[in-house]
Amino acid sequence: MNNLLGRHQSVMPDWLSLYYRHPIEITHGEGRYVYDADGKRYLDFFGGILTTMTAHALPEVTKAVSEQAGRIIHSSTLYLNRPMIELAERVATLSGIPQARVFFTTSGTEANDTALLLATTYRRSNQILAMRNSYHGRSFSAVSITGNRAWSPTSLSPLQTLYVHGGVRSRGPYAQLSDAQFIEACVADLEDLLGQAGGRVAALIAEPVQGVGGFTSPPDGLYAAFREVLDRHGILWITDEVQTGWGRTGEHFWGWQAHAQNGPPDILTFAKGIGNGMSIGGVVARAEVMNCLDANSISTFGGSPITMAAGLANLNYLLEHHLQDNARRVGGLLLERLRAITAGVPSVREVRGRGLMAGIELVKPGTDEAAPETATAVLEAAREGGLLIGKGGGHNTAVLRIAPPLTLNVTEAEEGARILEKALTSAR
Ligand code: PMP
Repeated sequence: MNNLLGRHQSVMPDWLSLYYRHPIEITHGEGRYVYDADGKRYLDFFGGILTTMTAHALPEVTKAVSEQAGRIIHSSTLYLNRPMIELAERVATLSGIPQARVFFTTSGTEANDTALLLATTYRRSNQILAMRNSYHGRSFSAVSITGNRAWSPTSLSPLQTLYVHGGVRSRGPYAQLSDAQFIEACVADLEDLLGQAGGRVAALIAEPVQGVGGFTSPPDGLYAAFREVLDRHGILWITDEVQTGWGRTGEHFWGWQAHAQNGPPDILTFAKGIGNGMSIGGVVARAEVMNCLDANSISTFGGSPITMAAGLANLNYLLEHHLQDNARRVGGLLLERLRAITAGVPSVREVRGRGLMAGIELVKPGTDEAAPETATAVLEAAREGGLLIGKGGGHNTAVLRIAPPLTLNVTEAEEGARILEKALTSAR
């Protein structure tokens, strides 16, 4: 009974990652902390891969979920559902998309899948522009627009995808360019790809800050410059806000708002944190785009009352407690601390981020070569020290990813930085 790992291995697929040499069984959580089956406490700097947006065991969410559970746990299709309509109204207004319609899914992958269904149907084309090094999920269609090969388990794509430059600029010839020159070069690349596409292209899909790719952001305004080109061809802009939504970047509520000069996106996808651990995803689109489908739903559970009750309570908490502002303020301090503790550490190439998304890129000392083994060693050492972090970054996974719940306070930011400093030293 106790050998949970052995039991996991005998019934679950071999390709499921368990992150650590001795995988952790999380049993409960509170605030920014989680506990394992041995009672060890961890400061959670990864929020269960950003699914815990506000805090673990947030009483407001727990209450909303248990009250809804006491009434009915049900699907969202066929009947009216009050929490779903209320959350949809809030999300439609917050999205910044005019005449917005909202469709809820159960995950980010399904949200992107639905966005692709909308865009390809609306434009009657299966050509998609995606960004190099991107990640959008691992369903059949989502892997077809994921530029990050290590995270894309098949190349048998139902879509014709062209990969645009713009996600990574810290290496290669692009690294030498100013922001304006970089944008110009990426726009030229986009124009060139459109020339090659020879026919209709449905949409460009992009993460405003690449999450799995290692928290890299293009200069502000890149997608606005892209939008100008896309508009000339009638191509839709899909923004994948699965990691960047709900104020996580601090400066903006959505990542696309750093690229807003030429108007909002046509389609926005979201997921992860809005449910604070409950599985919610969703798509927002202009009514004309959303309504192009001849369908009666996509699946059964998106928008189910229990997940929507959680989402509403969580969103209310986020807005009432100004957590976007907290992400900006505490995230800024954390980034400063991370820069301070890594200054002079030879394996650290770059510390970057926005709000409560911080990435630490690791290399083999004295070289520009990615150091995935060091990243794994730091992850293990941080875990020993009582800190959970993530990793990502291109095909070689050498970027430490830090994305704590948005209620993180300064004391906890300090505590996390101290543990990480030790972990970096011991993994050198
Ligand atoms: N888009 C982005 C940007 C993501 O980071 C992820 C998950 N890491 C997804 C989509 C897929 O979301 P989910 O895992 O909820 O299907």
